[in-house]
Amino acid sequence: MKKNDRILALRKAAEAMARGDFAPDIPVGDDDIGHLGQSLKALSSYLQKQAERNQSLYQIMVECNLNLQLIDVLNHIYESFQEHLPYDRISLALLENDGSKLKLHWSRASYDKLELVTGLSIPVSDRSLHSLIDLNQMQVIDDLSVHLRKHASSRLAQAIAKEGIRSCLICPLIAAGKPAGFIFFSCRTKNSYQNLHKDLSLQIASQLAVIIEKTQLYKGIKLNKLLIAQKKSLEQRVTHDALTGLLNRPAIFDILHKQILRAKRGGFGIAIIMIDIDHFKTINDTCGHLIGDAVLCEIACRLTQSARSHEYIGRYGGEEFLAIISPYNQEGAIKAAERFRAAIAAEAITASQTSVPVTISLGVAIAANEAELDENLLLQRADDALYQAKHKGRNRVEVAQ
Ligand code: GH3
Ligand code: MG
Ligand code: MG
Repeated sequence: MKKNDRILALRKAAEAMARGDFAPDIPVGDDDIGHLGQSLKALSSYLQKQAERNQSLYQIMVECNLNLQLIDVLNHIYESFQEHLPYDRISLALLENDGSKLKLHWSRASYDKLELVTGLSIPVSDRSLHSLIDLNQMQVIDDLSVHLRKHASSRLAQAIAKEGIRSCLICPLIAAGKPAGFIFFSCRTKNSYQNLHKDLSLQIASQLAVIIEKTQLYKGIKLNKLLIAQKKSLEQRVTHDALTGLLNRPAIFDILHKQILRAKRGGFGIAIIMIDIDHFKTINDTCGHLIGDAVLCEIACRLTQSARSHEYIGRYGGEEFLAIISPYNQEGAIKAAERFRAAIAAEAITASQTSVPVTISLGVAIAANEAELDENLLLQRADDALYQAKHKGRNRVEVAQ
């Protein structure tokens, strides 16, 4: 090839590289032009590697953002960066137990017999860790045998040396601003890690941190949801009756107590209604306890459905219920009691294909002024009124005088 043609070929190759084609035809030779060609060829292969490396990093970034499993991403890293970073082994260690332990989470090596195996857990306070790692800073060990001479007691360094490892690059993972663990690359030749490897490992570590951060966040949300659900279910169990689902005796008393205080502050009155199932013992005796239970549940359901927003219903005792109407007006309290009575009497309750006609008796007590706003007095008067309702023939409402 003529001199001019060779120079033109080199120019074209340089232009192709500038356009992102890193493998153009480049003539080489033994003279000056040929040497220039060789340099250009070396440059093209370097650029080609950089482009591949960026592509691999990009791929890892995409995977981390796609919520792929950490292990999958780690395996992909092991398979993708051999050309760009020297390693015979890559391992990931994560901090656990609020940062008090470091656990070897994953390892992969080009050889079989690993001395440091996945699952190994070491307290962060263990002195043999300190010579090897720093929670916040990248560490490079150029020659493990020199390192071991200085830190002869380091069990970790001894273990990897036994695997034939000679140099290491240990890169911390920082997730959500806090140390989360390390990724460490190790190699069976000494002095393997240069500045460009440090940059690449930092970029890999920062992508891994993304996925760890996401996992932590997810775990946090899941735990939070679980705790909230558990708290709710506990609250429900403490304040509600297991059979009917109504507020239980302590809970309805608590409401009575609070409503009395509120009424005193607000200068209004409240009413309570004591409710008792008529001849419930007979229902149990003739239909059986299970049907008795089903009747209790249906009554609780009808009472709840017919209650208004300012009317609270609770299971006061076995087959007795307490309704609190706050604030009340006299007519409203009697109407509410009538509404409850009618809701039960209107239709027989069907349980296990048995139709059970049921009625309730109700005693209303009203506290219209400050002096009457007394828990025990109200309950006593409602009980007296209920007794009157029973006495006068049941399935009726009586108001305490
Ligand atoms: P009255 O009209 O005078 O109120 O008559 P009664 O039969 O309803 O009254 P009594 O106090 O004699 O009987 C109440 C019955 O309620 C007795 C008890 O076994 C029954 N009981 C209480 N709690 C439950 C329960 O949770 N399930 C069932 N099946 N029965 C219950
Ligand atoms: Mg009773
Ligand atoms: Mg009864």
